Amino acid sequence: MDIKTKINKTGDRLTKQRQAILDYLESVYSHPTAEVIYKNVKKEVPNISLGTVYRNLDYLHSHGYILEISSKDKKSHYDAHIHGHDHFICESCNTILDLKSKASNKSKCELGKIKSNINYYFGICNKCLKLNKK
Ligand SMILES: [Zn+2]
Ligand SMILES: [Zn+2]
Repeated sequence: MDIKTKINKTGDRLTKQRQAILDYLESVYSHPTAEVIYKNVKKEVPNISLGTVYRNLDYLHSHGYILEISSKDKKSHYDAHIHGHDHFICESCNTILDLKSKASNKSKCELGKIKSNINYYFGICNKCLKLNKK
C-alpha cells in the first residue's frame, strides 16, 4: 500500500501540497532537507510556503510515513523509502547514501511487531576518501 492510500484510509486530508511533497520525496533518493523539498515542490505548487512544507513533513514523519534522518550538518533529511535499506552517513561531506544491505525479513521479535528497520552507519564516503588522497 502506498503512502497516499494509507493517508486516505485514516481519513486525514491529502491536500495538494501534501501530495506534491510526497510525489517529490518518492521520486528522489537524495534525502533532501526541507529547504530542498520546498524549492522543488514550489515548481508544482507555486503558492506553497516553507512553513507548510515543515508542517507537512512533521505530519508525515510523526505518522511514520517518511523517515527523518539527522546528519552531522544538524539538518533534518527526509526519505519516503522507508523499507529495505540502511543509511550510510559521510562524516566529511554529510551526504546520506542508501546502503543496499540484506535487511532482516523478520517482522516479529520478542519485543513486538517490527514495522521498519533502519540502521545508520557513520563513515567517510568513497568520494571523500578519493579527495583526501590527492
Ligand atoms: Zn563524503
Ligand atoms: Zn534512504
